[in-house]
Amino acid sequence: VIRRLFVVLLVVLLLPSSIRAQESTPVPETTQNGLTIHVVQRGETLFRIALNYGITVEELAQINGITDPSNILVGQRLLVPSGTTSTSTEAITHVVQPGETLRSIAESYGTTVESLAALNNITDVNTIYVGQVLNITPPVETAVPTPTDAPQPDTISAPVSGTMLYTVQAGETLFRIATRFGISVNELATANNITDPSLIFAGQQLIIPGFEPPHLALDLPEPINNLSVNPLLLVEGQAAWIRLTTSEAATMSGTFLDRVLNVITEQGGMTHNILIGVALGTQAGIYPLSLNVTRSDGQQVSLSVNLQILTGGYGSENIILLEDREDLLDPSVDQAELDLITPILNTYTQERFFAGSMGLPAAAAVTSPFGTIRSYDGGVATRRHTGTDFAGAPGTPVLAAASGRVVLADTLNVRGNAVIIDHGWGVFTGYWHQFELYVQVGDMVTTGQIIGTIGATGRVTGAHLHWEVWVSGVPVDPMQWVQLSFP
Ligand SMILES: [Zn+2]
Repeated sequence: VIRRLFVVLLVVLLLPSSIRAQESTPVPETTQNGLTIHVVQRGETLFRIALNYGITVEELAQINGITDPSNILVGQRLLVPSGTTSTSTEAITHVVQPGETLRSIAESYGTTVESLAALNNITDVNTIYVGQVLNITPPVETAVPTPTDAPQPDTISAPVSGTMLYTVQAGETLFRIATRFGISVNELATANNITDPSLIFAGQQLIIPGFEPPHLALDLPEPINNLSVNPLLLVEGQAAWIRLTTSEAATMSGTFLDRVLNVITEQGGMTHNILIGVALGTQAGIYPLSLNVTRSDGQQVSLSVNLQILTGGYGSENIILLEDREDLLDPSVDQAELDLITPILNTYTQERFFAGSMGLPAAAAVTSPFGTIRSYDGGVATRRHTGTDFAGAPGTPVLAAASGRVVLADTLNVRGNAVIIDHGWGVFTGYWHQFELYVQVGDMVTTGQIIGTIGATGRVTGAHLHWEVWVSGVPVDPMQWVQLSFP
């Protein structure tokens, strides 16, 4: 008996060091605690367990010889490297993704719709929305809810979605990594554009294809097989790209914010794109996105997804106009000009000329951001700043922010010498107050092409470029298009 005990003791003592020997990264000093055995509980995933112990899924999978991290069983015993402490008392939350329902989320966590609904005070399961943070387990501290405890949407951080990254360890080969994740060397090499599989190095980050982000619980009607919303949480005064894929050729239509959506269908009718501009002044809240898919045999499938719109939180400013420009504040002047440009900005070109992010329209500093509530000469603040202003000496080149077709090049009262470029798919850019214009209606321009120079024409306080981006008929924050890259 003593010998048997000794053997068990020896195994327990040796295990951690043999595990450590496989790791190329140094292990913290606190290894005296011995080996922890974690028994998988109902609703737990490898991702969640790894998170609780402060280690990576890869580490946990490797130690336990798990090739498919999505396949673990309740009651399964997992070895956890020593020195880590469980924080499993932490509440588990889930951020609702596009295409998920309360039913599919409950299923993926091994719980029931009823218990999820009860935990989150949900009376109607159809009211859940993209970006909503659901309690999967009861909150640790049952604080008495007060109005100020209401969830603050701005603090929600959307999970990294789409791909899983793996960092190559010293001595590893592509074959070994592929085996670990249950995929072929070829799949791994293709996903990472590796032409010579022998040329990988420690520290290199590899995309592991086929690994979905944890807890994605899609529940989409056939033939819809994926739905993405970018960004996950919509913002007043910003654009969003919605992409839906179908497993067969289909056509799509839809509505959002009381507008009929323009849909671009690509890839043999299997990819459907919608660009949405959320108008300034849209009340923060939950709004349904209604989609209709028509299959080739005429059968219709409809889908409603609740999207969240956050307030833009734009500031306010007072503008002192040049003395001889005050007559331009006359509302009839504004209206006449709006009547001229609105039809242009509401046309829809099926062809797409832009790709990726936009370039800046001038090599100049931003002096006034988009969205601010403006008053002129101390008057009532009623107007919104619908573009981004750039300072610049008169004569500084004005550049096309993206490729497209010139659809307006004219002298206007408020906007001065103005150019509008149509980039396709309902995306337009506008460049106001220029000194000289170098383009004409119908010209095709490319990103960075000089279309004019900075001036002080129209309703201005001095020489500057006012740059606008319009999406689906409304002005949106141009700087979002410089920073974000839509596919
Ligand atoms: Zn401006």
